[in-house]
Amino acid sequence: MITKKLVFDRNREEEWDFSEANEIIRNGGLVAFPTETVYGLGGDATNPEASKKIYAAKGRPSDNPLIVHIHDFKQLEAIAKNVPDDARKLCKAFWPGPLTMIVEKNETIPYETTGGMDTVAVRMPSHPIARRFLQESNVMIAAPSANTSGRPSPTIARHVIEDLDGKIDCIIDGGSCDIGLESSIIDLSTDIPTILRPGYINKEMFEKALGKEVRIDPGIIDANANKGIRPKAPGMKYRHYAPKGNLVVVEGNDENVVSKINELAKTAFAEGKKVGIIATDETKDRYETGNVVTIGDRNDEDSIARHLFGVLRDFDDLEVDTIYSESFGTPRIGMAIMNRLLKAAGHQVIKVD
Ligand code: AMP
Ligand code: MG
Repeated sequence: MITKKLVFDRNREEEWDFSEANEIIRNGGLVAFPTETVYGLGGDATNPEASKKIYAAKGRPSDNPLIVHIHDFKQLEAIAKNVPDDARKLCKAFWPGPLTMIVEKNETIPYETTGGMDTVAVRMPSHPIARRFLQESNVMIAAPSANTSGRPSPTIARHVIEDLDGKIDCIIDGGSCDIGLESSIIDLSTDIPTILRPGYINKEMFEKALGKEVRIDPGIIDANANKGIRPKAPGMKYRHYAPKGNLVVVEGNDENVVSKINELAKTAFAEGKKVGIIATDETKDRYETGNVVTIGDRNDEDSIARHLFGVLRDFDDLEVDTIYSESFGTPRIGMAIMNRLLKAAGHQVIKVD
């Protein structure tokens, strides 16, 4: 299959032409498109054949449900068995935006889209290209991240091309994604709202909007401390984001982290290994060996989130054997960043103080 590439300039809305993409999506084909979180791989959420194609293109296990993207709250009412009050509150506070809600589904969305579950994950994205695509096609679009299963999520169109060129009908290139981490997922199908995947919208923000306490799924906090507890979002149990090199996170105060990484890098280098280091703008000049890549500014946690997946992919291109990373437990979205980084590292952490 030849994958059609459309390039839309984010600042020239009047030039965007969705006619081909609309045609493809309405006929059960697949279109990758940018959102404010990461690129999504879209198909008609009401068409079981389109959902099957998404799993096949990604090599994704079919028990890992897809997120349904909408542009209007009425569409949530059309696919949910009932819309909880909490969903209305969260919609007011965070939609359109990087929030996915889990509610009980009715028969409109087939089991092929929900991985056999009686609940459905729903999100209203804010990215202007995603919004217009949803409005103009008037299709509810099932879209997981547009990467091969197991690879880091794509934050620019080149990442999508690397993984899916020749396997899907179309890619809309709309530049880089603003947030760079997948949406926060909250389960509203149970008594107490439960965060199933941390993201840009954090626990405090949920609690403020809902006026009550929310839980965090114990399966996602610390994989080691909770051995045997299965995460409730099926996708969270798979090894994700894995770079080809062996990634180890070093945690502690800045001074100790830099010296430990320098020591580890020298040892690995002496063993003939190609070494990568994930540093920050503040520390990048203090490393003595290896391919040093800066992930962003320590005082700007959004920049760290935005670059994380791209940095992991860059190390694949550099074909490094071993990667040492600093730790990023930043105040607001540190939990979301560390959730991805620790998964990518298979939870290999060295603590230095
Ligand atoms: P992705 O879009 O690739 O980030 O993957 C979607 C994520 O949403 C996966 O981690 C899924 O397991 C999760 N998800 C989707 N639908 C549901 C659902 N009905 N219940 C729980 N988790 C879900
Ligand atoms: Mg994904």
